[in-house]
Amino acid sequence: MSADAAVKYVTETPVEEIERVKNWINTEEYKEKNFARQALVINPPHACQPLGAQLAAHGFEGTLPFVHGSQGCASYYRSTLNRHFREPAPAVSDSMSEDSAVFGGQNNLHEGLENALALYKPKMVAIFTSCMPEIIGDDLNAFVKNARLKGFIPNDFPTPYANTPSFNGSHIHGYDAMLLSILQTLTEGKAVEGRCTGKLNLIPGCDFNTGNYREYKRILKEFGIPYTMLADISESFDSPCDGSYHVYPGGTRLDDAADSINGKATISLGPYATGKTFTWIKDNYAGKHVAMSLPIGIEKTDAFLMKLAELFGKPVPASLKAERGRAVDALTDAHQYMHGKKFALYGDPDYLLGYVSFLLEMGAIPYHILCSKGSKKIEKEIQALLDGSLYGKECKIYMNKDLWHMRSLLMTDPVDAMIGDTHGKFAARDAGIPLFRFGFPVFDRVNLHRYPLIGYQGVVNMVTAICNKFIDIRDDTCEDRFFEMMR
Ligand code: SF4
Repeated sequence: MSADAAVKYVTETPVEEIERVKNWINTEEYKEKNFARQALVINPPHACQPLGAQLAAHGFEGTLPFVHGSQGCASYYRSTLNRHFREPAPAVSDSMSEDSAVFGGQNNLHEGLENALALYKPKMVAIFTSCMPEIIGDDLNAFVKNARLKGFIPNDFPTPYANTPSFNGSHIHGYDAMLLSILQTLTEGKAVEGRCTGKLNLIPGCDFNTGNYREYKRILKEFGIPYTMLADISESFDSPCDGSYHVYPGGTRLDDAADSINGKATISLGPYATGKTFTWIKDNYAGKHVAMSLPIGIEKTDAFLMKLAELFGKPVPASLKAERGRAVDALTDAHQYMHGKKFALYGDPDYLLGYVSFLLEMGAIPYHILCSKGSKKIEKEIQALLDGSLYGKECKIYMNKDLWHMRSLLMTDPVDAMIGDTHGKFAARDAGIPLFRFGFPVFDRVNLHRYPLIGYQGVVNMVTAICNKFIDIRDDTCEDRFFEMMR
């Protein structure tokens, strides 16, 4: 019996009807209905708050992420991180279920903490919540205090905790909340009047690209600037395969994080993912404080390097100047393949700013710009970038829309390519355009998180990926008489 014969359809849909709807969803009429949609989100390009909180927790030495909430939610964060990085993402959950939804999850939390400390011997446990305890109003503050009083955790054991309700915000807000709590916990009582570590505190933001973290370190090394990275996931999610398993590879040393309050300066990159943390740092950390965009594209990388030079009174090293020259050369060599091409973009606010800036530098057109959890502030900031360029005139920003909206845009007002994460592959396939996977998560390609997108090296990486794909398409689709050795 064939596979088809085994399927018994409950309702038969005539082939003509399937064909009619297939065509209809590509029309202007459907697009209008799609954009009038209010009570339903389809394929949103963002994850929930706790996932970002887990990323922040992994950025610290010996830290065990602890989900106060449902087991299934914890599996979702772990598997998403695991599929993106192709590395383990060890975390525990106190597995709240029906009874704890009724009586509260304090017992789960206490038992979970006791077991986690005994089994996994962490140096810190970072607790964050899934939807369920947030909906029933669990009081994390009281629960953690009680855990100490009852002896489930030692008095001096660091246990930062963050409320990360998923029905509000996205992974970037959970990242911010968890990072803030970790820094507040570790730096408590550590500020020393007159002490200066002489170091830069670099906050890379909610960034899932381990190559970016390594690139920041390389740039700071070239400058000769001592630093503490808050929070450093470069080893946690990109550790060497040496035949042994480490539960907690890498991460920012807890002592360094504690002493970061006495730093010479703090730069917070990706301000949309670190807003609360930065506000608190401004009031509590010594030294100078700067929040600035991710250094994606030439202009934003220049601004980052100039800021480093200014804060530490050092000239931009000749090696980085040469690197800039090579990146500009790479852009010049490749610009004809990107110039005038239209792009659709979606993703986190900080990344969108970077993509838009980079594309405008290349004379490309960031035509549809979509953010699934946006705000007036990010919309204005992107619009200002567009207004400052010839190539931004016909571009449009779509705030708080999803990838089903994006599909309508692609089918009714086509572009040449899309930039985002794996979730956009269905729309890209329907529209017959390439998808450049620069965002998070990337489930369906390998090693992309190892290729930096920030800095001058990031510019070269993005230009190379994009232009070579366009050239591939030309080779794959041109008539024989136009199939040339040179491109
Ligand atoms: S949205 Fe809520 S229920 Fe869904 S995975 Fe996130 S925390 Fe769990």
